[in-house]
Amino acid sequence: MKISVVIPAYNEEENLPEVAARIKEHLPARFERELLFVDDGSRDKTSQVLRELHAQDPTVRYLILSRNFGHQSALRAGLDYASGDCVISMDADLQHPPRLLPELIGHWLNGYDIVYTQRADDERLGWFKRFSSNSFYRLMNYLSSVRFEPGTADYRLLDKRVVEVVRASPDTDLFLRGFVHWVGFRQKRITYVPDARFKGATKYTLRKMVKLALNGITSFSVRPLHFATLAGVSVSGLAFLYALYALYILIFTPDAVPGWASVLVSVLFIGGIQLLVLGIMGEYLGKLFIQAKQRPAYLIRETDAAIPAAPHSAAATGGLEG
Ligand code: UDP
Ligand code: MG
Repeated sequence: MKISVVIPAYNEEENLPEVAARIKEHLPARFERELLFVDDGSRDKTSQVLRELHAQDPTVRYLILSRNFGHQSALRAGLDYASGDCVISMDADLQHPPRLLPELIGHWLNGYDIVYTQRADDERLGWFKRFSSNSFYRLMNYLSSVRFEPGTADYRLLDKRVVEVVRASPDTDLFLRGFVHWVGFRQKRITYVPDARFKGATKYTLRKMVKLALNGITSFSVRPLHFATLAGVSVSGLAFLYALYALYILIFTPDAVPGWASVLVSVLFIGGIQLLVLGIMGEYLGKLFIQAKQRPAYLIRETDAAIPAAPHSAAATGGLEG
């Protein structure tokens, strides 16, 4: 049996040798193994380091993407090309401790198709990361029919069957965390205390986090659209009542005051709601637009020769010229 570990890496040159060594140390030796690094368009020497690691040990493999496509797309590239009977995904900074690997694999051998990890709330993560992550999951659960558990990042094991489902799904902007919950199968959760980032700084900028959150919400829920409708209905209801009141003033009181304040307030309020609703519509329309173009989620510039040239996934074979 063969185990693949997929590791997306963006500007992680200092971490990779240590990451590779630690993974090899913790993978049970009786399995065939593959460490598939995905260089997500790094600007540092990440690709150079990967070539060297591959030269030293051919079980270290790599995909180099043509530019920075983002963590989720890099992950997807890795899942598309991994050849193992199960695929474990983890970060390239050792925050996802390789010491959990035997446990992940153990549960898989016991028949689980998905073994995912949940990080214990950790002081060292910094209040902003914890706060943003927790509010994100709270919002997601409120908005969506799929349950999301806080602190479940992309450190998980997927059986080959589940990987096939991911490959076959045509979403060009797949939100894996949600998708993996959505697919069902037999799932097992394990909790862990994350380690500190080995070297370097976080590659998840606030912008990337907001993008991920928006993508997560609009990928798994149409409830924001209901909000838009609700807001529309209640605001027009209020506006109608206000119109009645205005008529009453006009007809039954002798000195109708100009009342510019109330006009201004209601115009601004209704204008604001309209913009909000348009914005929500726009988010979904934009998603349809991107999806309709069927652009691949990523493009590969270089691989170690051992990786087949033809991609497995539907998304990856989409029209390149689109
Ligand atoms: N990453 C990536 N592409 C990006 C940003 C991040 O492949 O555009 C990788 C990064 O190299 C790391 C993982 O995604 O392996 C998680 O990123 P990071 O550790 O910076 O995020 P944090 O742990 O701070 O949330
Ligand atoms: Mg990290």
